[in-house]
Amino acid sequence: MALRSRWLTALEVGSILGFSVLWGLAAERLFPIPGPQWALVILMLFPAATAADALSGAVHWFADTWLAEDTPWIGSWVIAPFREHHRDPEAIARHDVWERNGNGCLAALPLVGLALYLPAPETAPARMAVAGLLWLAALLAFTNQIHCWAHQARVPRPVAWLQRWGCILSPRAHALHHRAPHATAYCVTNGWCNAALDRLGLFGRVERAVRRLASPRGATRSARGDLR
Ligand SMILES: [Zn+2]
Ligand SMILES: [Zn+2]
Repeated sequence: MALRSRWLTALEVGSILGFSVLWGLAAERLFPIPGPQWALVILMLFPAATAADALSGAVHWFADTWLAEDTPWIGSWVIAPFREHHRDPEAIARHDVWERNGNGCLAALPLVGLALYLPAPETAPARMAVAGLLWLAALLAFTNQIHCWAHQARVPRPVAWLQRWGCILSPRAHALHHRAPHATAYCVTNGWCNAALDRLGLFGRVERAVRRLASPRGATRSARGDLR
């Protein structure tokens, strides 16, 4: 167990360092940015933040709903933290920085890889595409940190300001997810997509459709324990 923990920590440290270096190299390719294109590069933060929030919701819904904590490979590293988070919401604040952000950085690495693989961005649309990819990668990589801040009683002043203005997930918006059966407000980057997704009941519809396909003759028990 101890050996495995060291292995996991090494993977998490490597993921965060690798992500940071590769993200920096990819961002460097945007330069020099002609004056008027700076606004476009910065504006791409908004669609990227919306996409990151929707993706965070989809991943969170998947990990809350499907598979088990003892599933080989993915179970202990991906599924278990989400299930533990419902049992002990404050545990996330006790994790070290590597455990909190390692899997997010690893998951976001392919986006940085794509930003590095694309031809050098020399036109405005190309710069917007690469900038959007890099904003998205950064937000996804550190969404768990943003989620953690929503559980902490004290946060740095700039973080509190971003929470208050709805730029990142606020404690009040996220509290909706921590009401049993934990089946709403899955998005944890900034929560912008939660109202629309919850009104549509999108995740519930997909879950019921999959369970019906998997077990057409009878009800099955979801990961949360309720019958479907
Ligand atoms: Zn959850
Ligand atoms: Zn939470």
